[in-house]
Amino acid sequence: MKAVIDKEACIGCGLCAQVAQDIYEMQGDKAVALVEEISEDKAEEAKNGADQCPVSAIIVS
Ligand code: SF4
Repeated sequence: MKAVIDKEACIGCGLCAQVAQDIYEMQGDKAVALVEEISEDKAEEAKNGADQCPVSAIIVS
């Protein structure tokens, strides 16, 4: 499972990094995924962070 962030769409609100600190991090005004491959036990956290994104910039698949 991977999380892909559309940097063009990201508005830098920081929500994903707040709710899923193990998965997302802010670098400047854009979010980045911290992990290349998301483990099963972190899948819910990754999805939760994606769900919080107000512009749907995160695709977890
Ligand atoms: S929640 Fe969405 S818009 Fe906000 S920082 Fe994360 S990716 Fe960017």
